[in-house]
Amino acid sequence: MRLFKNIYVKLSALVNTGLADNFTYNEKKYLQFSNLAALVTFFAAFNGVLIYIYEVIYLTSGDQSLFQFLVSLVLLISTLLVLYLNKKHHYETAKELLLLAPLLVVTTLTLCVQKETGDYLYFFLAPVGIFFFLGLNRKSYIWVGTTFLLLLLTLYYQANYPPLLPVSKASESINYIVTLINIFVILTILTSFLIRTNKNMERQLTELMETDHLTGLANRRKYSTHSEQLYHTAKDQKLPLSILIFDIDHFKAYNDTYGHLCGDGALKLIAEILNKHIEKDRDHMFRFGGEEFVAILTNTSLKKAMQFAQKIQTDICDEAIEHKTSPTHDYMTCSVGIASEIPHETVPYSELFEKADKNLYLAKDQGRNRIVA
Ligand code: GH3
Ligand code: MG
Ligand code: MG
Repeated sequence: MRLFKNIYVKLSALVNTGLADNFTYNEKKYLQFSNLAALVTFFAAFNGVLIYIYEVIYLTSGDQSLFQFLVSLVLLISTLLVLYLNKKHHYETAKELLLLAPLLVVTTLTLCVQKETGDYLYFFLAPVGIFFFLGLNRKSYIWVGTTFLLLLLTLYYQANYPPLLPVSKASESINYIVTLINIFVILTILTSFLIRTNKNMERQLTELMETDHLTGLANRRKYSTHSEQLYHTAKDQKLPLSILIFDIDHFKAYNDTYGHLCGDGALKLIAEILNKHIEKDRDHMFRFGGEEFVAILTNTSLKKAMQFAQKIQTDICDEAIEHKTSPTHDYMTCSVGIASEIPHETVPYSELFEKADKNLYLAKDQGRNRIVA
């Protein structure tokens, strides 16, 4: 078990060869893909060497495919060079080599040995195609065009001319089976990598869509899908649910006095305070609107919700964000409306929210900088 873990760690490190801190998600996946492609090609070429060793031991002299040994060796060196180039941050050169080396090797193989080796070309079209379909590079067009042209040329050659270096029948069948296994293994590894990349991308995209870019809190979109869900879960579990609406007092005046950029800074600061008190998995904090935030606290009674709001108000007060033009206080304050109950079968979520909203208006009416439940 430990051995497998060690191998996995070593392989992961190899797949990440050349990774830099400032890489975007796409750049990272791109690099990992090229390293992985180099590694699996290395694996295929290594099999080529093994076949040759097998042939030397078990076949009669003259039946060995020395040719295959040599091209495998070239491929092994090329793939190591790809890893080395990535390590030295010559990413573009590494990528070109990754495509060029197998393409030339396979073309030569097809001209010399023919028959089943044509399959290789189709296989190598796949990674080129992946580069192309991911739209990673304009050069992908050239690569696909070149590959296709080479394929046509070699097919024409195969149909009209004899092989340059014929391979014995015995060697042919071994080669064919190992080739098919290689293709299957390589395509499986690369496909699984791409599927995982795709899933992660989807997750990241959803996260991005549901996050407020200014404060980093969950945004209104997430609130819309999440709030009712939390309410129904509380209903099923017969547990209390508390809703708190925080609204910064006289924020318009703050913007007018200090400017919108300062306003943004203050919003970020308040969001940090709100986030600090969140208990993961139980509490949920959303930026509901401009300077309004909603907290949904699951399994939380009214008393606990009050304490939660008080702690946040104290923290905002301690932060002492100057607000000269606020009629309420010299510093920034906020008002909070709370509603809390064990959801009833016939009562919709909107009713609980409206109750919190009304309490917020009461807090504003009663002079702001207070909590009303
Ligand atoms: P009240 O005490 O009654 O809540 O008064 P208020 O001024 O806070 O409320 P109002 O709704 O009149 O104004 C909210 C202000 O919040 C207006 C808008 O310019 C500001 N705002 C909304 N979103 C942002 C934002 O992302 N950045 C900045 N800087 N200001 C924002
Ligand atoms: Mg408001
Ligand atoms: Mg306000």
